[in-house]
Amino acid sequence: MPIKILSEDVASQIAAGEVVERPASVVKELIENALDAGANEILVFCEGAGQKLIRVEDDGSGIPASEITLAVTRHATSKLSTAKELFQVETLGFRGEALASIGSVSQMTVTSRETKGVIGVSLRVEGGKTTRLDEVGSPHGTVIVVENLFYNVPARKKFLKTDLTERRHIDEVVTQYAIAYPNVRFTLNQEEKISLKTTGSGDRREILATIYGVDIARQMLEMIASEGDVDLSGLISPVSLTRSNRKAMQFYVNRRPVQDITLSTALLQGYRTLLMVGRYPYAHVFLEIPPDQVDVNVHPTKAEVRFRERDVIFSAVQRSVRKALLAYTPIPELRSQYRWGQFDETNGTRGSSPIGTDPQKSTDPVFSSQFRTDINEIEDVPQVQSLPGPRVPLLRLIGQIATAYLIAEGPDGLYLIDQHAAHERVLFEKFLANLSDPVPSQRLLEPVAVELTPANSRLLSDQLDVLRQIGFEVEIFGRNTYLVRTVPGLLSGMDPAAALRVVVEEFEEDETPLQGKKEQKIIARVCKRAAVKAGQVLSDQEQKALLRDLELTDSPRTCPHGRPTMIHLSVDLLERQFGRKGAR
Ligand code: ADP
Ligand code: MG
Repeated sequence: MPIKILSEDVASQIAAGEVVERPASVVKELIENALDAGANEILVFCEGAGQKLIRVEDDGSGIPASEITLAVTRHATSKLSTAKELFQVETLGFRGEALASIGSVSQMTVTSRETKGVIGVSLRVEGGKTTRLDEVGSPHGTVIVVENLFYNVPARKKFLKTDLTERRHIDEVVTQYAIAYPNVRFTLNQEEKISLKTTGSGDRREILATIYGVDIARQMLEMIASEGDVDLSGLISPVSLTRSNRKAMQFYVNRRPVQDITLSTALLQGYRTLLMVGRYPYAHVFLEIPPDQVDVNVHPTKAEVRFRERDVIFSAVQRSVRKALLAYTPIPELRSQYRWGQFDETNGTRGSSPIGTDPQKSTDPVFSSQFRTDINEIEDVPQVQSLPGPRVPLLRLIGQIATAYLIAEGPDGLYLIDQHAAHERVLFEKFLANLSDPVPSQRLLEPVAVELTPANSRLLSDQLDVLRQIGFEVEIFGRNTYLVRTVPGLLSGMDPAAALRVVVEEFEEDETPLQGKKEQKIIARVCKRAAVKAGQVLSDQEQKALLRDLELTDSPRTCPHGRPTMIHLSVDLLERQFGRKGAR
């Protein structure tokens, strides 16, 4: 084919594709415009997961009647005029692309009245063409209605996920801006239900409470710091409050929600050695930096930024997080944890020590010598042999140690069994074995009401059938509130609300798992919670029963999440270690 310049239509659809990926992108752009217009109140309505209708109303400065046609024209913006200003951007928008892009892939009506205007104007754009322009009576501010998104781009429609997922993306976008702008009143209404409402009181913790619940919001730690040109603030979770994924780690640069690997790595570095493997904090971290220190024009959706001095930003975040955690962590726990952290860091890069003690140079002789022994012991740990075959042989229980492990003797040496992991495995297989029959469930004496976040509530409401299959009878009780009537029999000892939350966390993890796999994953998660914990004293009978149950499982050697349930020290290994046999 010869080279041709693309027609206006094709070119604008290509451009629109970059900005408007899904309904949530429209919501994001319209909210940004409302915020740039100085709105105090922003109302967002969505129907059909945003594909049928998105309406965003604001009480901002409005668009002058004479400029409304320009507003929907590509590269038309009131926020930027010279290339130099591109490095001084203080507004959320600056590309002049959003309205043009949205208008080219939907039927859009922009109605606006300037603060000083006497009458409003309304402009309709269908598939990029202006079809109507009227004077109308309207309140001050702007209302943008986007109907039938992607009606003229069927290919794009195919890439959309389930309504559930698209609604969740919308929830996430509105939530992010609501947290970033706590002085603005936000209302999000999806499918005729309010899914987020903020008061504009300026209190971020209050907004976190509506999202994560009061309990979590109350525990979050305040972080405020300033390093050079960087001002940091935010709310981060204490080390005792974690979750299984990174979804509650959110960063804002000059109040723009961004995804950035530098920032998330720095945050996790701040928590280094204080969190268990696979656990992540809740964190909403705000960076204020001079606009010329950050390039926001990296990506059409402006979700990514580039820092001029990445290392400075990195260490500012890491240090501030660490400081906040140390300031709030009770001292005894902190000291021991932190020494181990230091020890860890001597193997790699050691930063400056926030608590000012270098364990190896410690003036405390007892501590420092003991510390060295620890290192030696760790280096000399014998290689543990793996178990032959999937089954375990019959074991003779010896007892429990450290209220965490069972010791047993088998035909070939010693077995150390992690009581928690072992119990998880046992519960998991009992659960699966029961799954084909109606699962025995236990009716609660009093149904328990559980309040969830709007996003999680939406996830749950579509999955009540799956829950019933595993023995949870749960019904919708009110806005974001559910009544738990029965729990799976195996969980009868557990707090029903906690059990339900665990399940919802699993839905959050995985949007569209295969049905069968989904059940298994939920069950694995539930078993993890229900299993006996390290630190729990088990009676002789309980220890014996656990061992016997474990022997009967199909895969006794790992917990449902794949971690080992046991360590085997063979007679051979013991003999070598005691010098009865030649060195290996
Ligand atoms: P950008 O935000 O990058 O300038 P947009 O296409 O999003 O580009 O908007 C184009 C212009 O329309 C904006 O520069 C602004 O002047 C005007 N505008 C858009 N939405 C609003 C709104 N809600 N209130 C006031 N003005 C608006
Ligand atoms: Mg904009």
